[in-house]
Amino acid sequence: MERLRRRLEEEKERLTKELSRLRELRLARDRWAETRGYGDERSEDATKTVELEKGLALEENLSNLLEEVNHALYKFEVGTYGLCDLCGQPIDPERLEILPQANLCVACKAHKAKNARGRHPR
Ligand SMILES: [Zn+2]
Repeated sequence: MERLRRRLEEEKERLTKELSRLRELRLARDRWAETRGYGDERSEDATKTVELEKGLALEENLSNLLEEVNHALYKFEVGTYGLCDLCGQPIDPERLEILPQANLCVACKAHKAKNARGRHPR
């Protein structure tokens, strides 16, 4: 368990760094767009927009992941790590080995995914 906690802490550090890097990039791009203006060649602008959207999606994914990691670390603090958030049953250790930030057991995860189908593409 202590090993998993270390992995989570490393993951947290990695995600935090990656997120701040992405945010800096986005801010730099915003500043660049402001000084340059938006009236330039259209195809170039379209490429920039796609890149920006990809960056934002990535940023969102990372911050969701960071939230999961933080939650898992919090569960370590309160002593519920390894237990499912919904049903309170122990999560399969093999699952935690693959995904230390897992907060739901396989059954609840599947149930949730089934309910969310159609509304959430992920
Ligand atoms: Zn469960």
